[in-house]
Amino acid sequence: MIYFDHNATTPIDERVVEVMQPFLHSFYGNPSSLYRLGRLSRSAVETAREQVAALLGTQPSRVVFTSGGTEANNLAVNSIDDSSSVAVSAIEHPSMLEPLFHRRSSYRKFSLIEVDENGRVIPEAIDGLNLNQGDFVSIMLANNETGVIQDIAGLVEKLRRRRVVFHTDAVQAIGKVPVSFDQLGVDMMSVSGHKIYGPKGVGALVFTKGSEPKPMLLGGGQEHGWRAGTENVAAIVGFGKAAELAASELDERRRRIESLRDKLEQALAELAGVTVFSKNAERLPNTLQISIPGVDGEMLLMRMDQHNIAVSSGSACASGAGEPSPVLTAMGVDSVVAKGAIRISLGKDNTEQDIDKMISVINKLLVL
Ligand code: PLP
Repeated sequence: MIYFDHNATTPIDERVVEVMQPFLHSFYGNPSSLYRLGRLSRSAVETAREQVAALLGTQPSRVVFTSGGTEANNLAVNSIDDSSSVAVSAIEHPSMLEPLFHRRSSYRKFSLIEVDENGRVIPEAIDGLNLNQGDFVSIMLANNETGVIQDIAGLVEKLRRRRVVFHTDAVQAIGKVPVSFDQLGVDMMSVSGHKIYGPKGVGALVFTKGSEPKPMLLGGGQEHGWRAGTENVAAIVGFGKAAELAASELDERRRRIESLRDKLEQALAELAGVTVFSKNAERLPNTLQISIPGVDGEMLLMRMDQHNIAVSSGSACASGAGEPSPVLTAMGVDSVVAKGAIRISLGKDNTEQDIDKMISVINKLLVL
């Protein structure tokens, strides 16, 4: 199988499995227990926190572990004070948009921030928002469909005097491009383990002093009370190792993946009428979203599956919904073109042969 859907999830790295294994067998202690077995688990969780903090360019004390990116986003939303003004980009992941829409009536004002035809937030769109101290803004660092990277540091700077709480969803960015929480200047940031060759079901919310999350889960006081519940030690340990590997291998992975993506993009762009979305924006090195005229994205996906190639027709959660992608719709893409979209997202183990096979299969499918 040729796997080109790394923005949906990544295969777990063998080196990650190796460090997790003892915590599924012998080291089963509860990190809150005071005897040696418990302390061993506690120490492993704190090592993982250091590894994750190092990848994210911040202090371990700023990292609260969650069950994934979805929970981290929901935790950020839960921390918004009622009657604040809230502004969020129109292209956020559903795990950000849905909880916000759900609580929308409690906000003083709720605004969607527009993007341009390349999927970039329009900086002037922020100027018109009447935001003040304690209001909440969320703009993702990199989009899961197009791969577009936003200038978060610039947008934070624009809003600095207003003293808003600025959250960014960095789930797709980490491990693919350098990300420094401290340098971005945001107040909160969401990340996830399974997009960086770690296990599923683990992630983190990172926050500054003064922007502590308001807990959704109450109980045993774990994670300083910000997220109660016995820690998923093995998954946290795996996330830590995946973060360590992502930090040390980032440059090499990025260079290789980008050159493969560019080769594929060049070959596909030569096919008649193909649209490459967000071509003129800064994008993740691994992501390529295209539409082929007259070809339905889901149909193409199923045909590729028959050739043992896995791609996506949009964000994994939206696949099968039959609706054009809200991200492409927000970019003003025509609904027929948007329905033809397929997302190809490369990973560290893809090879030149994978790219050649993909090009030949697409060419074969298009003449059928
Ligand atoms: N945010 C973005 C941008 C994502 O792409 C995803 C997953 O696809 C999530 C959040 C949710 O993360 P998780 O799958 O860890 O809940």
